[in-house]
Amino acid sequence: MLKKTIQVFDPKSTTVVNTTKVIKTNEEWKKELDEETYRITREKGTESPWTGKYTDFEGKGWFYCSSCKLYLFDANTKYHSGCGWPSFYDVISNKNVYTKEDNSIKGRPRVEVLCKQCDAHLGHVFKDGPKQTGLRYCINSKCIDFEEKEEQEEEEIEKEEKN
Ligand SMILES: [Zn+2]
Repeated sequence: MLKKTIQVFDPKSTTVVNTTKVIKTNEEWKKELDEETYRITREKGTESPWTGKYTDFEGKGWFYCSSCKLYLFDANTKYHSGCGWPSFYDVISNKNVYTKEDNSIKGRPRVEVLCKQCDAHLGHVFKDGPKQTGLRYCINSKCIDFEEKEEQEEEEIEKEEKN
């Protein structure tokens, strides 16, 4: 299969890096993902509100795509929207996600959010977010995983060395 190189933003090195687009058949995804994750990411499903593991989650770090591991959201932009799904007011970079018009519900046009690297459906973005951007990225917990940011205080390191 032809390999397609794309550029994405890496929050760890804060640089733009080259990566290869992840292209798999539905059969291949089915083998890799659990049933619910497959339904949401590949069939554009939605998890029930207040059921996702990251809805009320608080932690410092990055959320990455549960399908392909691309970094998508910084925990610093996560906020409590009260909508029942993990909500962010910004993405790590517009290089890492893209949006698409979604008219699957008649009379209620929405904007779908997808992973740039593997095309996983992540959720939707609405224009009722907080003042920072005015946007609310409403994301299914099943579509993301969390990586904690290792923050070592310099003072603590010095102390350890003295002991
Ligand atoms: Zn992905």
